[in-house]
Amino acid sequence: MKVNNWLNSIQSLLYPSGCLLCGAAGDYKLQFCPACYRSLPFNRHTCPICALPLPPSVSSDMPCGRCIKKQPPYTQSFAPLRYESPVSKLISGLKFNRRLYLVEPLARVLTDCMGETFIRPDLIIPVPLHPLRLQERGFNQSLELSRVVARHYRLPVNWQLCQRVRHTQAQSDLSEKARQKNLRSAFEVCGDIQSAHLVLFDDVITTGATVTELSKTLKRAGAKRVDVWAMARTPGY
Ligand SMILES: [Zn+2]
Ligand SMILES: [Zn+2]
Repeated sequence: MKVNNWLNSIQSLLYPSGCLLCGAAGDYKLQFCPACYRSLPFNRHTCPICALPLPPSVSSDMPCGRCIKKQPPYTQSFAPLRYESPVSKLISGLKFNRRLYLVEPLARVLTDCMGETFIRPDLIIPVPLHPLRLQERGFNQSLELSRVVARHYRLPVNWQLCQRVRHTQAQSDLSEKARQKNLRSAFEVCGDIQSAHLVLFDDVITTGATVTELSKTLKRAGAKRVDVWAMARTPGY
């Protein structure tokens, strides 16, 4: 095998060409073939505050029951996809199998769906990982995704401004109440965000406990407004 061919085959393992879901050959916009792109679980009918998927019978002009009962510390959330198959497989492949080639196509689904329909923030802040988890994973998926989105919209990203100071138990093992308790004083702001309009960027919003706690921390530190952008939202919470 020629060195060139060998390099090409390695490269195709790292950066597969064709559709990311069905493998159909072709140079597709966003790396999904048109049929696979159409079949993605888009999150179009949602609560405007927390991006929770709503049943078709409920109007999306109104916040969901939970947001009415207890207003979150953030103003608006946008998550273009529902966290279900095949999105869950793509995102866990990125996080746990280091499929970094998924960063760009996933982030571009967000910019493609969001378009220009948002109020421009001053700054994007990716949800921080604790240094121990960062070391274990080697990268922060929220930072990588937010970089692509920020470049698209020409917005600044700051990943050092907000740090995770407490190594918390994995949220996925906990109940909703325990998740909130687990996160208390987990974050610290080290920088001036007085009167700033910020966007918190996460990969997946599950119960919203993380973005709620972070938004509270940012507001306490002086932020004027916090919005949340994520790739996907878990239905049902
Ligand atoms: Zn396809
Ligand atoms: Zn809501």
